[in-house]
Amino acid sequence: MSYAEFYRRSIETPEAFWAEQAELIDWKTPPSQILDTTRAPFVNWFAGGTTNLCHNAVDRHLAARGDQPALIAVSTETGTERSYSFKELHAEVQRVAASLMELGVGKGDRVLIYMPMIPEAAFTMLACARLGAIHCVVFGGFASASLASRIEDATPKVVVSADAGSRGGKVIAYKPLLDEAIRLSTHKPDAVLLFDRGLAPMDLSKGRDHLAAPLVEKHRDAQVPCTWMDATDISYTIYTSGTTGRPKGVQRDTGGYAVALAASMKHIFDGRAGETYFSTSDIGWVVGHSYIVYGPLIAGMATLMYEGLPTQGLDRQPDGGIWWRLVEKYKVTVMFSAPTAVRVLKKQDPALLKKYDLSSLRALFLAGEPLDEPTARWISEGLGVPIIDNYWQTESGWPILTVANGVETTRSKFGSPGVPMYGYKVKILHESTGEELTAPNEKGVVVIEGPTPPGFMQTVWRDDERFVNTYWKTVPGKLVYSTFDWGIRDEDGYYYILGRTDDVINVAGHRLGTREIEESISGHAKVAEVAVVGVADALKGQVAMAFVVPKDGAVLGDAQAALALEGEVMKQVADQLGALARPARVHFVGALPKTRSGKLLRRAIQAVCEGRDPGDLTTIEDPGALQQIRQTLSPRG
Ligand code: ATP
Ligand code: MG
Repeated sequence: MSYAEFYRRSIETPEAFWAEQAELIDWKTPPSQILDTTRAPFVNWFAGGTTNLCHNAVDRHLAARGDQPALIAVSTETGTERSYSFKELHAEVQRVAASLMELGVGKGDRVLIYMPMIPEAAFTMLACARLGAIHCVVFGGFASASLASRIEDATPKVVVSADAGSRGGKVIAYKPLLDEAIRLSTHKPDAVLLFDRGLAPMDLSKGRDHLAAPLVEKHRDAQVPCTWMDATDISYTIYTSGTTGRPKGVQRDTGGYAVALAASMKHIFDGRAGETYFSTSDIGWVVGHSYIVYGPLIAGMATLMYEGLPTQGLDRQPDGGIWWRLVEKYKVTVMFSAPTAVRVLKKQDPALLKKYDLSSLRALFLAGEPLDEPTARWISEGLGVPIIDNYWQTESGWPILTVANGVETTRSKFGSPGVPMYGYKVKILHESTGEELTAPNEKGVVVIEGPTPPGFMQTVWRDDERFVNTYWKTVPGKLVYSTFDWGIRDEDGYYYILGRTDDVINVAGHRLGTREIEESISGHAKVAEVAVVGVADALKGQVAMAFVVPKDGAVLGDAQAALALEGEVMKQVADQLGALARPARVHFVGALPKTRSGKLLRRAIQAVCEGRDPGDLTTIEDPGALQQIRQTLSPRG
């Protein structure tokens, strides 16, 4: 079937389409109603059906592939490498499930998981799913204040954590951060379960804290049956990356999510049972939920879970080829990473890409932020496999725009994540009038018309009103979901994301996406990284301001070289996009401020440029980078 036909069926006859996809998973009771939109924009998928995510990820594979690898955990931080078969994973998950039960966890209870990338983190997520408990994974190593606000919001019965995480060989003790967070929060969990990796000492609070090892050992032979969940029961909540402000608690169902993941593994990722999937993300992000833990396992694949930098080997010596070494060793067929990680690898010797046998690899998927053409070309030429950009959000749970090579081989275009995925009615609307823009290459807001497909967020946790008001009421007179991204669709139906709606700048009445300007600048041979923001200007309304990390660090200390490069960059933008888009200034810095997930914090840069308070910075990776920007701006930086 052609993809166009596949897509058309998903939109015109969603019930028939998704009833068919629902057969990709196991149901205890099959659904009686596929789609219910009576409370739009809220959607119920697969009502009447009962299932369990852990059953679909683990138990159902025991008969056919019990002895095959299910979870491969590699840590270049501790120099460890372990593999668990589906049978072993089944046993480990039940041990943790029994331990959680002993601490009082049952269906509907929240369990907050604050853990590093160790196999026990995946066991715990799956154990929660098994019991019908709602997990809320918080990125390991987040500061106490960010963790406290999430504890407050999720009101967990139990928190599961570990003594420490590690990054680039530096141990980050989690327990003191957790203790402080619980102290700050008005909600107090009944119990804390702690996995001890022997990296940092832990002070245990009597009556509240429990070491995991003795509990898990006590339940060595535990058999904990799966709790059958209604398809519409909550599976988990997760917070967005916090790039544009205070993170939102995204709530997801059970049945719709399982079906969406199973379908995406087949149609988009083209991953097959018995193969190995390697996502370099973290369980603290949505990619980690969908494509480290649940998606690959539901598809019967082994999932490779990785703790460490992309530039360090198992012997803890520098090794820019570690990921490719792992692809060769585990015969990875599908890999998933982010442009930010590829930009790190780009600074390594390109010969490392040719050193290993990567013939098992079919494709590399990249998501999370715009994929610029130079980065895409570099990795695509280096690996010799298709690079598949895919655009989605924590809110959607799986790709919104990409190509579905599992349905029909479709060409990718540089700079575009692709076309709408089945189930998604994607449109471009005029930002102020809300009118649909149907002509090619007209810029507007990317929106999704309901009903949203399976896997999409159900609501904001405990705040239906915020869900409707934040996402569905931005266009006057229309009930549509706003992605808050700005984009265009070309004559072939491919979409291009031009930046966030709050990153659109207005220069003398002309609307420009910061992404377009960044794309033009990053094409310059001497530019490693770039951020462009709009800054208030008395004359023009706004002007573009560029912050560039030069490839050659010497530019930073050499005023003359900087001035010359600034001129070259300005000319390049003016030549490619017109004089209006030319940045008012190009500042050179050593690093750009990013979230812990590697996304540019343009909003914070803009605030600093305009002398405002940068706001909520709980998710920032390196506050020093923002400080550098402040310094460059001070008198003739
Ligand atoms: P917050 O919503 O709290 O501000 P966030 O939007 O960064 O944080 P995520 O849900 O992790 O949180 O990120 C989704 C966003 O990332 C998208 O809305 C889009 O702006 C960007 N994005 C993701 N994938 C791509 C892609 N392939 N191309 C361009 N942008 C992308
Ligand atoms: Mg967002």
